Formats: sequence, C-alpha cells, structure tokens
Amino acid sequence: MLSAEIIAIGSELLTPQRTDTNSLWLTERLNSIGVEVRLKTIVGDDAGRLEETIRDALKRSDIVITTGGLGPTEDDITRQISARAVGRELVYHNPLEADLRERFRGWGREMPEINKRQAFVIDGAEVLPNPNGSAVGMLLKLDGKFLAIFPGPPREMRPMFDEFVLPVLKENSGGVTVSHRVLRVSGMGESAVDEVIAPIYKACPNVETSILFSRVEIEVHLTARSEDADEADAVLAELSEKISDALGHAVFATNGETMEEVVGRLLADRGETLSVAESCTGGLIGMRLTEVAGSSRYFLEGAVVYSNGSKMRALGVAENILVDHGAVSAETAEAMSAGMKGLSVSDHAISVTGIAGPDGGTDEKPVGTVYIGYSGPKGTRSVKFVFPGDRELVRWRASQAALDYLRRQILKLS
Ligand code: AMP
Ligand code: MG
Repeated sequence: MLSAEIIAIGSELLTPQRTDTNSLWLTERLNSIGVEVRLKTIVGDDAGRLEETIRDALKRSDIVITTGGLGPTEDDITRQISARAVGRELVYHNPLEADLRERFRGWGREMPEINKRQAFVIDGAEVLPNPNGSAVGMLLKLDGKFLAIFPGPPREMRPMFDEFVLPVLKENSGGVTVSHRVLRVSGMGESAVDEVIAPIYKACPNVETSILFSRVEIEVHLTARSEDADEADAVLAELSEKISDALGHAVFATNGETMEEVVGRLLADRGETLSVAESCTGGLIGMRLTEVAGSSRYFLEGAVVYSNGSKMRALGVAENILVDHGAVSAETAEAMSAGMKGLSVSDHAISVTGIAGPDGGTDEKPVGTVYIGYSGPKGTRSVKFVFPGDRELVRWRASQAALDYLRRQILKLS
C-alpha cells in the first residue's frame, strides 16, 4: 500500500482562527484509492522549517501533498522553498504569465506586477491549471515518488486534485479500491450497539468495522478493500443489511445520510408535511430541516416560542397548562405540538421544551430535561429525555431526539 503525507502550509493555520480542513478532505480521497495517510504536518510560513519538512517527507513517504503558500505575496514561499527542497530551479513560464494577464483582464483589472511570481514553476514539474484562482499547482515525479503542490483555498485545491492528481495516483496505487459505508444509529449507546453487532462484524474479518460516537448519534463505519469495486460494495451491502436487521429501527441511515435527510425523505415519499414548535432548541430543528435541498416540499413552518407568553399567543397553549405543569412538561410539549399542527394545517408537528442549562435546573427537572411532543394523524403524545452534556450538546441532542421521535412515529404509521 502506498503511503502518503500531507503538509498544510500557512501561519494562520497555527492560530485558533483557522483550521486545516484540506488534509481531512485529501485523506478521504486518498483512502478511497487505497492510499494510507501516515503523517500530517502543519507548518507556518517559515522557510527553514518548511524546507526541512518537505525534505523529510520525501524521504519517508511515497506521496507528499502540500497545500497553501502559493499566493503572490512575500509570505507565500512554497514555490521557492519546495524547489530548493528538491534541488531544482524555478523556471519562468511565459504562457502562464499571459494566462494570468488574461485572467486579470477578465476581472476588469490590470495584473499587479507581483503576480508575475505565480508564473514561476519548478523545473520539470507538470503544471496543474487552477480554474478557480490565479495560483497553479505542480506535480513532480521524483525517483518513483510524487510531490503534489496545491494552493490553499479549498475551492481551488479540490477540483485540481480530483482532475489532475487523483487519476495519476490511482494508476500507481495497485488498482485497489476502498469502499466505505456509514450506518447511523439513534437512541442507543456505543456499548449497547457493539454488544449487538460485534458477533456479526467479527464473522466478517475482511471488512474493517469501527464504532464512533458523535454528539448526537453512533456511527458504524464499514471499510472494505478490493481490486474489484463492485465486489467491495457487495460485501459492505451484505454486512450493512445484517447489522440493520439486528438493530432494527435504531438504524436510521445505511449510507451516511443525516437525520434531517432521512426524515425529509420519509415525508416527501409520503407526500406529507411537517411543522415545528421549538423552545429550548431555538430554531435548530428548523435550521437542520431547511439545510436539506428540496425541504420546501414538506416543511411548512417553524416557530421559536421561548417565553410562556409566546407559547400561549402563537400556539394557543392554555395558561393553566403552563401554570399547573410548568413550561417544561409533557403537557406543555403536547399542547405545543397540537397547537402547531392546528395552526399550520400540517400532517405532523413536533415540539421541544426543555432546560438546556447551565442554569434553571431543579431536583425534579435537572438540566438536560427535555420533553418532545408529537401530533399526527393518530393523535398527540410526548416523550421525556434527560440528556447529559453542556448547553450545546443538550440542544443538539434534543433536536436529534425530536427528529428521531417523528421518524419513529411515521414508521409506525406505515
Ligand atoms: P494560500 O494558498 O496560502 O494563499 O491560502 C489562502 C487561503 O486558503 C488561506 O487564508 C485559508 O483561508 C485557506 N487555506 C489555506 N490552507 C488551508 C487548509 N489547509 N485548510 C483549509 N483552508 C486553507
Ligand atoms: Mg498562505
């Protein structure tokens, strides 16, 4: 298996303000062709350290990919330093300058002289065109190793990698394809999931299985390697089906879909509509639902009803319910979803009311207490949760539980 390493270049990436996301994206792509990423480095715009990093990387890895530092300004040094690290000259590329001038003219501007720097490339490198920016990339083959140099902005680097480098690396990676599949599970803990599925995946040693915990769900990652992509996909499909059968409705996605996509598809397939009344999630459920393209087919409206007054005024929740049971109660959650359903004339409505914290908890209703209401064709019901975690986690978990409760109610109807 070929080994790769990624060098993210830029002093801003060493501050809390900017994160190196390029290496995550590149790793996913490299893994998909059976290349393993063994090391990642983030290095600032520092000539000495950068040269040393590139030299060392080329000693130990088959594929070295750098991103960043190809801009026209003084602090962008990747071009000169990588040339020095591989012991080659920078050569001036006339057509590149003409290309750059043309590009600037297209933007209605004269090319600043400093951009001429971007017309220098490492001697012998293949020039990788950049349709989305002025900095071209470079690909070098050195004693059977690859050095690929990309600009930093993700929207420039990604298409360049896919078009010019991925096919070359794939050809050299022994034709292994790696298939990956993610199952998502809700309403179960990590160890409970593992207890049920361990006997199943252990019987399938040619698939690498890992169980990962995210803030709102458990993910089961399945990876298979094969020279035949169809074969790898078939192996994953079979294991995925066995795991889904064992876990039942707790598995809400078998191909990496998000909860909001799954719920959206259920509603769209049935031609039904949804409305949402949110208190402690403050619009998070509405945001998640509307992140899905095409959600206007089924999502009618959402209300953020934070105060008692707004619960009464906007949803018609009776004052005595709030007084007798409190804003955070099963009765209020049910009155909210019933009110929302009536108001919006949707087929389904969900509501959330809870205590996200850090203040506001009591012995009877500690921080994390959340009631979720549901109103649908067969009436209204609710469920109580006590979520662990800080304010952000409680809000996310409440949004996930509400969407999952809706999903399970819809599945019960069919
Ligand atoms: P550069 O090629 O160094 O001029 O990069 C310009 C911009 O690209 C930076 O300001 C960042 O916003 C972005 N960028 C650079 N490197 C990365 C990276 N590793 N991950 C995500 N964004 C990056
Ligand atoms: Mg930079």
